[in-house]
Amino acid sequence: MKKFHILTIFPEFFEGFKNTGIVSKAVKSGLVDINAVNLRDYATDKHRTVDDVVYGGGPGMLLKPEPIFRAYETISKEKKPYVLITEPWGRKFDQEFAYELSKKDEIIIICGRYEGVDERVKSIVDEEVSIGDFVLSGGEPAALVIMDAVIRLIPGVVGDKDSLRVDSFSDGLLGYPNYTRPPVYRGMEVPKVLRSGNHKLIGIWRRWKQIENTYKKRPDLLDKVNLSEKDKIILQN
Ligand code: SAM
Repeated sequence: MKKFHILTIFPEFFEGFKNTGIVSKAVKSGLVDINAVNLRDYATDKHRTVDDVVYGGGPGMLLKPEPIFRAYETISKEKKPYVLITEPWGRKFDQEFAYELSKKDEIIIICGRYEGVDERVKSIVDEEVSIGDFVLSGGEPAALVIMDAVIRLIPGVVGDKDSLRVDSFSDGLLGYPNYTRPPVYRGMEVPKVLRSGNHKLIGIWRRWKQIENTYKKRPDLLDKVNLSEKDKIILQN
């Protein structure tokens, strides 16, 4: 079982996530455990204070180190989990990062709020992680994004293994377009090849579309991917 411990001042943020779709199934079948830890439970004063003013002046508040250290020490008594902290300047989260995290048994995600987290917390952190070049008001949405992408990769979570194989980024390329019934809708027709029943041709069409999609929308990905000789012929066309 994979375990996530989310250190947050808003544990309720994760309730809907835990109870929805494949994540909920994964939790119920015991493949994943999501433990939202309320940092206020680890505060050291009777007001359960988790934030304080910033040394040196300036706007806003910071999350205090003590509740975070205390929560971390309680969780990691027996085994040290892999510790992430959400930061706008962290390593950019992508599919490769998600694969790496899917190999870890136990992960802590520390969610910043306000102006962020006291820098001394970084002494217990393995990696800083960002979900993009923009500023959120807290790390919780980032933690959701990270967990969702990682949970999909845990064997047994996604029913059909093939759907992971054909996902965008799984082989370095974007995915191919899909259609469902009806075959013609408002004059728009599903490509005939997909209705032909010829799986070899469908496979070639889909590969073609993956390469075309990547070339048009994310050409930067093509520099990093190992294309076969057949793929290169598609690309030249
Ligand atoms: N003062 C920070 C700065 O200069 O970038 C911004 C703090 S932000 C308002 C509050 C918290 O949201 C951060 O500490 C971090 O945990 C989280 N956060 C904001 N943007 C993020 C992003 N792009 N990726 C991951 N976490 C983010």
